[in-house]
Amino acid sequence: MKKFLDEKFLLQNDTAIELYHSFAKPMPIIDYHNHLPPDQIANDICFENLTQVWLYGDHYKWRAMRTNGVNERFCTGNADDYAKFEQWAATVPSTMRNPLYHWTHLELQRYFDINALLSPDTAKDIYENASAKLRTNEYSVRNLLGKMNVKVLCTTDDPTDSLEHHKKIKDDGFEIKILPAYRPDKAMNVDDVAAFNAYADKLEKVADVSISTYDDYLKALKKSHDFFATMGCSVSDHGLEQLSVEDFTDIEIQQIFNRIRSGTSLSYDENQKFRSAMLIEFAKWDHEKGWVQQFHLGALRNNNARMMKQLGADTGWDSIGDFSQGKALAKFLNRLDESDQLAKTILYNLNPADNELMATMIGNFNDGSVAGKIQFGSAWWFLDQKDGMIKQINALSNMGLLSRFVGMLTDSRSFMSYPRHEYFRRILCNLFGQEIEDGELPHDMAHIGKLVEDICYHNANNYFKF
Ligand SMILES: [Zn+2]
Repeated sequence: MKKFLDEKFLLQNDTAIELYHSFAKPMPIIDYHNHLPPDQIANDICFENLTQVWLYGDHYKWRAMRTNGVNERFCTGNADDYAKFEQWAATVPSTMRNPLYHWTHLELQRYFDINALLSPDTAKDIYENASAKLRTNEYSVRNLLGKMNVKVLCTTDDPTDSLEHHKKIKDDGFEIKILPAYRPDKAMNVDDVAAFNAYADKLEKVADVSISTYDDYLKALKKSHDFFATMGCSVSDHGLEQLSVEDFTDIEIQQIFNRIRSGTSLSYDENQKFRSAMLIEFAKWDHEKGWVQQFHLGALRNNNARMMKQLGADTGWDSIGDFSQGKALAKFLNRLDESDQLAKTILYNLNPADNELMATMIGNFNDGSVAGKIQFGSAWWFLDQKDGMIKQINALSNMGLLSRFVGMLTDSRSFMSYPRHEYFRRILCNLFGQEIEDGELPHDMAHIGKLVEDICYHNANNYFKF
């Protein structure tokens, strides 16, 4: 029997072990999409205890706790930090075969050198041991990133953000590059007219552009896009159910914008036309500046109205949606490609049924101008686990070039999530190692070791040019 979570974890043969330890493990991390709070990095905060770093913002854990019968008071509520931790510790033994079980123990090992399994019996010791470390400077958030060999990370930021925290981090001369990413979801969300108008008013102030027409609105957004670029941003991101690709005229969009600004709700068609117009504008700006555009497609969000009212978005009430992606995606990419305005693009699907669709879609627009120009992004959110990663890697291998893949990202809100890169790397090395051992790939460790290094680091480094 193999030992649980030792250095051979997920590596089922000697070749896989060699690939991981000699090639994958030493590679630095480029985490090109996450949701880490820039203010915490700017202020280089220390967490007071393990609950703060693990449970304050982690909807994955809250979902597991609720499913295990834990009251909301211990998830997002006002129970004290240790009481919350006790409930999490009591939940962990029930998370076996969910990635949380692996992540939890990898995080205890990698950050704190704690090899014990978390359970009600070990809760107190682990909490005290880890919390004592967290309060030391060695465990400040900047040092946590350093510990994981992170070279670059991109946060997720709204066009109205002042990026003051990014500025402070840069001015401090922090050696890890902390870059913003432009995520204008709110700028095109016209489902709620009042919220959209409040957003446009905010943008007006922040960008210092008076907004009375659609052209003014674009001018203000473009100004913020330009500002993000001056702050080192070279990546955009969109979280969408599916691409909007209606046909529209400029006059139609100007009229739709005027209707919104007068407080009138839009019809479904108008809503889709407006989104279609905005998406094309953002995409063209990204192309102009040589940015990478990312599309996270297919989440069905905020499904529990009662809990949405109580806790707001991003608190664990989302699921995989069954939106139709193919036709709209092809039409959108084609619109841009036709006029040679298609930026480097990464497509992420949340529904695993779309894996092969994505893996073949990218081939339609890889035109030889840049290696791996259109990417099938890493397994994401609900698919960010062993089975999901293997399926994504296999679809990409079978229908594209795995060797050109820009690899893993955390997409996380937690400073403790970096072992997910290790998780991915081990799975990747095991797939290569197994096929070498089976004689399906040549035993050429120099070449395959280089491919592994590329997927873990060099491809992303060359692709993003941070
Ligand atoms: Zn994300």
